[in-house]
Amino acid sequence: MPDATVPPPETSTAIAAGPAGADPADPRAEGPAPAPQPDDGTAEVTAEGAACAAVIVAAGRGTRLGGPLPKQWQTLAGQPVLAHSLAAFRAAGLAPIVLVLHPDDMARAAHLLAPDVETVSGGATRSASVRNALEALAGRGIARVLIHDGARPMVTPALISRVRAALDEAPGAAPALAVSDALWLGAEGRVEAVVPRAGLFRAQTPQGFHLDAILAAHRSEEAQTAADDVEVALAAGLDVAILPGDEDNVKLTMPGDIARASRIMGAQPVDIRTGTGFDVHRFGPGAAVVLCGVSVPFDRGLEGHSDADVGMHALTDAIYGALAEGDIGRHFPPSDPQWKGAESRIFLRHAAALAEARGFRITSADVTLICERPKIGPHAEAMRAALAGILGVAADRVSVKATTSERLGFAGREEGIAALASVMLVAG
Ligand code: MG
Repeated sequence: MPDATVPPPETSTAIAAGPAGADPADPRAEGPAPAPQPDDGTAEVTAEGAACAAVIVAAGRGTRLGGPLPKQWQTLAGQPVLAHSLAAFRAAGLAPIVLVLHPDDMARAAHLLAPDVETVSGGATRSASVRNALEALAGRGIARVLIHDGARPMVTPALISRVRAALDEAPGAAPALAVSDALWLGAEGRVEAVVPRAGLFRAQTPQGFHLDAILAAHRSEEAQTAADDVEVALAAGLDVAILPGDEDNVKLTMPGDIARASRIMGAQPVDIRTGTGFDVHRFGPGAAVVLCGVSVPFDRGLEGHSDADVGMHALTDAIYGALAEGDIGRHFPPSDPQWKGAESRIFLRHAAALAEARGFRITSADVTLICERPKIGPHAEAMRAALAGILGVAADRVSVKATTSERLGFAGREEGIAALASVMLVAG
């Protein structure tokens, strides 16, 4: 019979049930990732507006995963593993974000840099690497910091926000999962003992702390050999609350982990947005109308702000709508003389660039022009090409079609042209 009284093996990744964890019923701990929230006043807000920073540790050279590159630089779902971790922290609204990198990897990280992303060089140990990042954050009025393993790309903005919120109640907080499998002590391929699992947790990151406290802890001697930051915090006597972890927040370590992570990511819901736009412009004097970027000879023109491209305006508003970013008037106020007579492609290009900046691809766009005249059909292909060029997508993702209104209403009386548009945006 195995001796059930054998103590658990020493492991730096198991943390005993200690100080009160966060209440899972706490509404802050549930639901989708909240937008960046103002802090409660206990945290100073810096001139940069950054009360909670993030450190993503990615300086290791570990190649146990297989392949020629360290695991944080291997490709997962079309991007480096580290890029997924970074995206989650940006989505959760943390700033600044400090990437701790091996000096040899600085060039590799160039495309990840942004105004809210900084880099520091890693040290000889994990702890030294974290300390370098914490020192870079010191003295900037940043109250809190979340420290994350770059090789955990499945971290969600929701989990990040839970850790951040828990720092209202404790100087340290970290996600973990209670051990549910039986634990054995084994040697030479045989079970020698069963280890009681009660009170044992599997630790995850991000691990969150009050910055001053964890920096002081990292400056101490004991920190040098710690495997993670909770170990550093405990050595310094800090309370660390245990939060519910996430089974998908795996650390990529072994061959096969990338494939497993890809499967999990494939099963996650994709962020898909649709938007609609509608616009009308009245006929006036002129010899041509500009529709969807194409000048169509006609016996009248269209009146309006800018070049009165009713189709392009509807499409632009559809993109702003999908992003919940208002409409053309908000971004290009008609009261501002600089936009008088402007080409509408400026507006459409702005909306498309905004979608791209928010991480979306335009997967389809459909414009319907409503008029009796001019005839749209002969120009529809040129219009599709013009819109696709401005949007930066293939022409087969852009539709331009037309209808009459059976001579009913203002379009039927040939007083003007109306346009409807819809778009679909897909994240990633
Ligand atoms: Mg308009």
